[in-house]
Amino acid sequence: MASSLPFWFNKRFSTEDQCRASIRELRWPEGFRCPGCGSERARINARGLFRCQVCQKQTSELSGTALTGVRVPLVTWFSVLWVMSETPSGISASALAKLPDPDDDEQNLVSYKTAWLLLHKIRGVMQQTSLEPSYGRIEVSVETLDVVELGQFGRQGKKAIQVLVVVKERADGTTGWAYLRQVPDRGPETLRRCLMQALGGATGEEIWSNPGSEFEWLGEAGYRHRIATKMGLLSVNRVLEEVRVWQVRTHWGEMSEKHVGAYLDEFAFRFNHQCRGSSSKDIFEDLVDRVITGKPRTLQEVIRGEA
Ligand SMILES: [Zn+2]
Repeated sequence: MASSLPFWFNKRFSTEDQCRASIRELRWPEGFRCPGCGSERARINARGLFRCQVCQKQTSELSGTALTGVRVPLVTWFSVLWVMSETPSGISASALAKLPDPDDDEQNLVSYKTAWLLLHKIRGVMQQTSLEPSYGRIEVSVETLDVVELGQFGRQGKKAIQVLVVVKERADGTTGWAYLRQVPDRGPETLRRCLMQALGGATGEEIWSNPGSEFEWLGEAGYRHRIATKMGLLSVNRVLEEVRVWQVRTHWGEMSEKHVGAYLDEFAFRFNHQCRGSSSKDIFEDLVDRVITGKPRTLQEVIRGEA
């Protein structure tokens, strides 16, 4: 892996000090500001913490970021973020646990347990916001997806879950943005609430669904409802095809119902970057920004599968 790390990465993330300096630059581009009182006057104490000269509050550059809670060096954190950005379809915890440590080929970079936690922490900041610009037509559908059902003694078999798929097209008809969310049922109330979330409350948009589907309420809700008859929902079909390939190729046997929300977030994150033509570096920068500024989740939240 070491040989594939690009020059700019090595310059910013190859020692703990460099990683800390990079985090500080990203968190406080104008210089440190005390989160307690807003003062800019601070000293770094013997423990490596900022100590505010006004209110005496001690602040770590890591506190409040998603980088806390897993005991690995920052260098490892950023290496994993790079692996996640560089591999087009991501990496499973078992594949990540097999990667060698760049500083010592005899050692693995992380254990399976740590790999699993890191990946779930990263997925926790991948949610797609509704702030993406609106393009051409919007397609919606509720589809079923097979996931692994976990029982008391591990895998118990497959289970079909319901997933709301929302895809926005660009004006030229190419796919622009996707949103996937597990829904407990196909009732109008559930779908309306989830769609409002996906579209950020915007109404008046032209939304296409399959005929005779569960979206008959769209017109009443203020959207311009269109029924796709001849061609079907091409963009939804493309997203579904990709999510199923991704599920098999990258996460075979590991996508459990409990964590499916996080996996769907990761899929949409990757899909939307792909639609934008992002480079690995663009993806890495987005991920690092999300990890540093995003809302952190506790270990218990990660394990319980909470968003
Ligand atoms: Zn202060």
